[in-house]
Amino acid sequence: MLSWDKTPALATIRQCRAWVEIDLEALQHNVRQLTQHIGAKTTLMAVVKADAYGHGAIAIADAALAAGARWLGVATVPEGVELREAGITAPIMIMGAINSPEEVAAIARWRLQPTLVSPKQALVFSEALGQGSTGTLPVHLKIDTGMSRLGFPWQQATEFVQFVQRLPQLNIHSVYSHLATADDPDPTVMCQQHQRYEAVLAQVAAQNITLPKRHLANSAATLTDPALHYDMVRAGLALYGLYPAAHLSSKLALRPVLQVKARITHIKEIQPGTGVSYGHTFVAERPMQIAVVGIGYADGVPRALSNRMEVLVQGQHAPQIGNITMDQLMIDVTHIPHLQEGSVVTLLGQDGEHHIGADHWAMLTNTISWEILCGFKHRLPRITTAPSSMSSLLSSESREWRDRA
Ligand SMILES: *Cc1c(COP(=O)(O)O)cnc(C)c1O
Repeated sequence: MLSWDKTPALATIRQCRAWVEIDLEALQHNVRQLTQHIGAKTTLMAVVKADAYGHGAIAIADAALAAGARWLGVATVPEGVELREAGITAPIMIMGAINSPEEVAAIARWRLQPTLVSPKQALVFSEALGQGSTGTLPVHLKIDTGMSRLGFPWQQATEFVQFVQRLPQLNIHSVYSHLATADDPDPTVMCQQHQRYEAVLAQVAAQNITLPKRHLANSAATLTDPALHYDMVRAGLALYGLYPAAHLSSKLALRPVLQVKARITHIKEIQPGTGVSYGHTFVAERPMQIAVVGIGYADGVPRALSNRMEVLVQGQHAPQIGNITMDQLMIDVTHIPHLQEGSVVTLLGQDGEHHIGADHWAMLTNTISWEILCGFKHRLPRITTAPSSMSSLLSSESREWRDRA
């Protein structure tokens, strides 16, 4: 009988149902692969937006900085504040656009570094900062060279740079751009963007403006061509051990950082003709042993994988059958003896000789691995393992877990 004072803390039941495992040693291996690849003259910015692509921003940022990354990239002001509140002092660039004076105040307060995409936006900053803050805020000017997302048109980049230069509160730290097709084997569009960026840099140089940093490359461009590296690369996906495209997979030996695991909660025999799960999209053709696994689409397993994915159990593949439900899914384990309630199933990751990657799920569901990784954020506890030299990272992680719980 359980009395209240013997009720286990949430932290002790983290691995009873389903969880994400984060391997910081793999993350640091990837950081070292990338820093070796780009060389000492180029800085690695670890892109940790969206809670480090679902891996946990604080632990990933700490581990990436300890392994040789120098900058951090986030999308929003609160993402930057979260890192500062955790005690991280490295430069943090915000890649999203900012238009409100409240955000400008937070940026100044927390020493974050914003992206500016237009003269109008630069004025919001200089007015919000006021007269008293001459030259204090490093800013990054974004030029649109063909992505047609954020950025001032490349043809008018010089006017934009000159405009910001005249604002005493702002200090131009970089002029950068972003590539739309760096993961495409056909380099045509990327080359055009590269040429436009070169033209912008030449115009800036002709104005006698020196830039501390020039940067253009995401993970794909970092792997594709050293001419795209400039002073800094902004790597996200590769940090997490995935390749932006199959043709780039031979460039570096990256290791996936994230695994997704869950436990079998129930096992049963079903007879031929028995339908499985909502809609009976799977009907048994033979006697089967099936297992219910305690993970579903609310945990980040896309429902579109129903009847298409496989999981790993005791080093063997087991097909998933029937529609994936919100909290549970079913697998065919007829060929795997000695399974029990509580046995661990690997959905993404390594079990024995087999590995299932986020890129495989992305291919099956016609999306990209970035979106698969970002899907694990709601209900799955995160179990982070670090090299013993970094045990302090684990304490920050358990603090994070308590906050989530
Ligand atoms: C997200 C992002 C990156 C990182 O892209 P990856 O393909 O994950 O390496 C780099 N730059 C900008 C502007 C981004 O928004």
